[in-house]
Amino acid sequence: MTTRAPALVWFFQDLRLDDQPALAAALASGRPLVAIFVLDTASPWEWAPGGAGRWWLEGSLAALGRELGARGASLVLRRGAMAREILRLVEETGAAEIHCGRAVEPWLRAVIGELRQVLARRGVALHEHETRFLFAPERLRTQNGGAFSVFTPFARAALVAGLDEPVWPAPATLPGFPATLAGDDLATWRLRPTHPDWAAEMRALWAPGAAGAAARLTRFLADAFPAYDRARDVPGHASTSMLSPHLHWGEISPRRVWQAASRAAPGGGKHLHSFHNEMLWREFSAYLLWHHPRLPEQPLRGEFAAMPWRRDEAALTAWRRGETGIPIIDAGMRQLWRWGWMHNRVRMIAASFLVKHLLLPWRVGEAWFWDTLLDADLAANAASWQWVAGSGADAAPYFRIFNPILQGRKFDPNGAYVRRFVPELAALPDDVIHAPWTAPRLVLDAAGVVLGRTYPRPVVDLALGRARALAAFAALPRRAA
Ligand SMILES: Cc1cc2nc3c(=O)[nH]c(=O)nc-3n(C[C@H](O)[C@H](O)[C@H](O)COP(=O)(O)OP(=O)(O)OC[C@H]3O[C@@H](n4cnc5c(N)ncnc54)[C@H](O)[C@@H]3O)c2cc1C
Repeated sequence: MTTRAPALVWFFQDLRLDDQPALAAALASGRPLVAIFVLDTASPWEWAPGGAGRWWLEGSLAALGRELGARGASLVLRRGAMAREILRLVEETGAAEIHCGRAVEPWLRAVIGELRQVLARRGVALHEHETRFLFAPERLRTQNGGAFSVFTPFARAALVAGLDEPVWPAPATLPGFPATLAGDDLATWRLRPTHPDWAAEMRALWAPGAAGAAARLTRFLADAFPAYDRARDVPGHASTSMLSPHLHWGEISPRRVWQAASRAAPGGGKHLHSFHNEMLWREFSAYLLWHHPRLPEQPLRGEFAAMPWRRDEAALTAWRRGETGIPIIDAGMRQLWRWGWMHNRVRMIAASFLVKHLLLPWRVGEAWFWDTLLDADLAANAASWQWVAGSGADAAPYFRIFNPILQGRKFDPNGAYVRRFVPELAALPDDVIHAPWTAPRLVLDAAGVVLGRTYPRPVVDLALGRARALAAFAALPRRAA
């Protein structure tokens, strides 16, 4: 008896079985299934997953493998040059068709485009599906048929367009491919750190995989969602969903998240509106990357190419380590290192401090976040950095410079966040915890703080840093009207 030619399901950043259109289409073909994941190790590519991303990926692939196994299929792991490994699998299995998620990342779009051509010559069809985002990038257009470059009209158009239906549940069983295929053992990929093991707190905090994503969503809707609109800017307690790594790796479909929030707020209202709006920022970032493939490397506003960025290794190291002497920044950068995640408000404050007060290029901040964030996402990271730097499509104006002391006092009024991540300041009273260098000597003594010894003095004078940034901005060539 000959085995029927299978359909390949090529997983990438859609590591789930529920509401997974590529899997659904492969199943609808009636063919046996071969589920694959390829780790690209061949290209000297700048945006291969960073340390934190690799840590997450291991847990996520292990979970996906278990879920497939429980349904009668297995996950074949390969590493090497992505296109070559896919072609090899097509040859080994005699696959008749391939289904994968649509990519917005330029390098992956190139791989998929190349593969489609080679496969077409062999009579094998490659189908892309919308597995990762709510809206296909070509679906949303301005009235003139162009691409949006401003968030608000983009979001309005998205709401008018509405979501695709229906959501497709995870199948109970899968028609696995009967032949055994060679594949890597996940452990041999060494995605997790050993020495030093920086992931201890991450293990306690996160559960990569679809079950962890579903649990996170349920907890968020019960606890934080009912106050989301007001509380989401407060970093000192669990005020947001923390779904971003799960969404990045596609362990939960954005449609599921969107609909679950709608169901939790049947009458609509401001919390639902705000949450949906944040989800639309995710869409907008992907949309921008689709329309501007150089987004991670080049300022969208050309005049920013002339920005006189500084080089200052000592200041950069202080920022990375959370030793800038500015408590809200240091708390954020240490949260990032320990949790692999940072609250959105603090990401904005820490990023603004780097590109404005320190006048360091946004790309060095982007690279550090890429390595340390569990949710490191090419589109969201690049779009957000450009937004903060003022060079993005719909960016915060460059001259609007966050004052980290005022931001700290406003969003962390009792210092809970700073105390948690900068324990050497924990005994300072609320009124000076965001600016310890302004505290009287007696107050510092009583709290056991010795500036320059137990906690650094600020790496930059905030007023001077601000003036320097404004002067640099003022000297940029004006934008052509
Ligand atoms: C400098 C900088 C870099 C960033 N880099 C990334 C990144 O690499 N990956 C990433 O997913 N987000 C990034 N963000 C956006 C945002 O900070 C995170 O998505 C958010 O903090 C995730 O927490 P949450 O899941 O609790 O969000 P929630 O408030 O619960 O929001 C729900 C979901 O909406 C999406 N979302 C929320 N805010 C944004 C936003 N501003 N832009 C895009 N999507 C958003 C996320 O997928 C998030 O999980 C960055 C922001 C800044 C300022």
